Amino acid sequence: MKEKNVQFIDLQIQQERIRGAIEKSISRVLDNGKYIMGPEVQQLEEKLAQFIGNTQAISCASGTDALLLSLMGYGVGPGDAVITTPFTFIATAEVISLLGATPVFVDIDPQTFNIDPEKIDTVISAIKKPDFDLHPIPQKYEKAPLKLKGIIAVDLFGLPADYDAINNIAKREGLFVIEDAAQSFGGEYKGKKACNLANIGCTSFFPAKPLGGYGDGGMCFTQNEALAEIIRSLRVHGKGGHKYDNVRIGVNGRLDTLQASILLSKYEIFPEEIELRQQVAMRYNELLVDCDSIKLPEIPDGYKSVWAQYSVLAKNKNHRQTLQDKLKGSGIPSAIYYPNPLHLQTAFASLGYAEGSFPVSEDYSSRIFSLPMHPYLSENDQELIADNLK
Ligand SMILES: *Cc1c(COP(=O)(O)O)cnc(C)c1O
Repeated sequence: MKEKNVQFIDLQIQQERIRGAIEKSISRVLDNGKYIMGPEVQQLEEKLAQFIGNTQAISCASGTDALLLSLMGYGVGPGDAVITTPFTFIATAEVISLLGATPVFVDIDPQTFNIDPEKIDTVISAIKKPDFDLHPIPQKYEKAPLKLKGIIAVDLFGLPADYDAINNIAKREGLFVIEDAAQSFGGEYKGKKACNLANIGCTSFFPAKPLGGYGDGGMCFTQNEALAEIIRSLRVHGKGGHKYDNVRIGVNGRLDTLQASILLSKYEIFPEEIELRQQVAMRYNELLVDCDSIKLPEIPDGYKSVWAQYSVLAKNKNHRQTLQDKLKGSGIPSAIYYPNPLHLQTAFASLGYAEGSFPVSEDYSSRIFSLPMHPYLSENDQELIADNLK
């Protein structure tokens, strides 16, 4: 048999472990025929709420829908502004604009890749004055003040943002905080689980995420029961007392029963996979410790990353290309998250940001790349990867 190439994220090994269980759970759904909001959906919500601890769980159709439903739950719309990071997947900021509100970008902390709380303070001061020299703010503020409503922080690569600092600012300013935990389900911050670090946490079950299904899916977690009720309604066309009683404008944002049943099977081995991910990450740290030309990820005390990605920084763009080519030559895939910060994306051109607006995000976009990362990455493969990088 041909030797298997190194996979960036290997879902095949995982499937071999649990294929039987997954086929059984799919068969159960086929037998029951409850394809929409079948019992597995509620079972998954209960299991994951228990895992996160002391929270309500509302499943939905994707991580993007989880973010959208959260913003809708807070009534965000035209004339509103929401602070977020430009160094993330498009979905984080897209949902703000989709509702007619305006994303206000704030640069990242150079160590964690996550939104920098000090710069959140600075942008709030800049907005209050308003003073475009203090911190870049969207051009719309030149015409009329927008109403600042909240903050979406992202737990990039599986590492939670600094929620003590972020929540303090939000409390002082009367803002909500949404945790984009699409990559961090299974991570921790100061003894608390990711998804439970802000007013509401949103995760994704996209196949490549730490807890991934075989399709799209997502979930919101909140301790706010009133907000949870609104989101449950929004996810089914703003329903009231029954299906054909509509009390608000919502979306079709349910999680499929089949997806829930697959996730229930995958969840059985998830705690073990979190530990395997730690081992793989620690092994990278050890193997690459002497590799002076690349900067390894650093996890601050009190944080636990779930290592959705193991991302390193090359010296510059050319150096990154050289390293990626070297890996590719040995059949090793790598990826760039993210090659363009959001403030420089065409879709956000109307915000009026420019090159230089967010120097850390721009610098990192030009030299970051991610190595293969999954719970089943072998020591041999990791040694091969390290040898290529040295
Ligand atoms: C994947 C991801 C999303 C969107 O999740 P989907 O399930 O693909 O809609 C949102 N934010 C971040 C940071 C992500 O990585």
